[in-house]
Amino acid sequence: MARKFFIGGNFKMNPATREQKRSLVKTLNEATIDSSVEVVIAPPAIYLLSLKDILRKEIQVAAQNSYFKPSGAFTGEISPAQLADAGIPYVILGHSERRTLFHETSELVAQKTRAALDAGLSVILCVGETLQEREAGQTAQVVQAQLAPVVAALAEADWSKIVIAYEPVWAIGTGKVATSAQAQEAHADIRVYLAKAVSSAVAENTRVIYGGSVTAANCKELGAQKDVDGFLVGGASLKPEFVDIINTKK
Ligand code: PEP
Repeated sequence: MARKFFIGGNFKMNPATREQKRSLVKTLNEATIDSSVEVVIAPPAIYLLSLKDILRKEIQVAAQNSYFKPSGAFTGEISPAQLADAGIPYVILGHSERRTLFHETSELVAQKTRAALDAGLSVILCVGETLQEREAGQTAQVVQAQLAPVVAALAEADWSKIVIAYEPVWAIGTGKVATSAQAQEAHADIRVYLAKAVSSAVAENTRVIYGGSVTAANCKELGAQKDVDGFLVGGASLKPEFVDIINTKK
């Protein structure tokens, strides 16, 4: 099965105003975009519903986080059931900013992933090593340790609803992009792990996308790697060049 190229835009805690939001949407709605690519953008929760309504229908929206409980006394959280009920198809889980700034463990990320799938959502699951871990030669080991609780929590779940985003922490928002060889190696290692821990079909069919300082200038070379199935884009998703990244394969 061919893996459909996937482009995610992680707006993080941007844009700051509704006017900026309208301008981003205008750019995306008026652009010529490759129809063979799956495009998903993740705005802050406050903009999810309005963006869903005004964005062209080929572009889907994702939440940037969700909790693992369906409802209750969890101030500040959004549940996967609420997202599903609102027609939001995707959620990003395990982003390095959540892991680092909000102390989310891989076990919590696994619980959230399971709950999101159970609610019918698709998940963009982020993993990746720090610079120190890469320099210590521990990249594959760290990524596997992040994936292992998810594999255990998912059991027989439908892996076609998971997109794995390999995002080296040292490349996120730094302008220091991984080389295409580094990305390819990490993605291939993820497939080797999935083949061993889940199944060869899951290893072959799961999309593994790269994130970390992707721009219009570097997307073509990265996107040409055999195991790179698209990108999760932060900073550049807020700029007109995001359209060029969507059109990487054109
Ligand atoms: C991200 O936040 O997921 C990301 C990849 O950010 P940036 O593209 O800005 O490095």
